[in-house]
Amino acid sequence: MNEKYLSVSDGEKCPVCDHSTLKVTAREIDVPHFGQTLLYSSLCRNCGFRQSWQYPLEARTPHRYTLYVSDPSDLTSRVIKSNTASITIPELGFSLESKMSSDPFITNVEGVLQRARSTTQTLISWADTQEDKEKIEKLLSDIDRAIAGELSFTLIIEDPFGISTIEATNPKKLKIEELKSSEDAQ
Ligand SMILES: [Zn+2]
Repeated sequence: MNEKYLSVSDGEKCPVCDHSTLKVTAREIDVPHFGQTLLYSSLCRNCGFRQSWQYPLEARTPHRYTLYVSDPSDLTSRVIKSNTASITIPELGFSLESKMSSDPFITNVEGVLQRARSTTQTLISWADTQEDKEKIEKLLSDIDRAIAGELSFTLIIEDPFGISTIEATNPKKLKIEELKSSEDAQ
């Protein structure tokens, strides 16, 4: 992996422990499938707080990928998601906003559903009412049916930087649209 250090600043204020013990590093790295990427990482010597952000440097055309999943073999389609992309599954009422999940990942459709499942699972403990709890349980059982290949759904990835892609097992079930500008990628 090619990498280039751009800057290091030490002694920044840590957002967690408030000490001036935070070291922030900016690097340019070449990530397979994602291209040249700016990686910021911070690490606090005092409390161990650690965080990183990635920004793609090779902006491409904004794209929307829509995959229709209706067969268990569709679950093996490869999903390459950059941190600028959002994923939605309208039939499940599920969306993974780019802000919520800054980690880029490469997985398959089933892997996306597993992520959806674990995100949803954590919501249960936040549910205030029995009604909310039942809604979440219904969503979990829908996700499980989708993982088992018993539920058809649509997976949509929108990426204003056009880095994310879906490599469909059945290419006929994939629709690729170019978006005019990043404003269209909502
Ligand atoms: Zn700290």
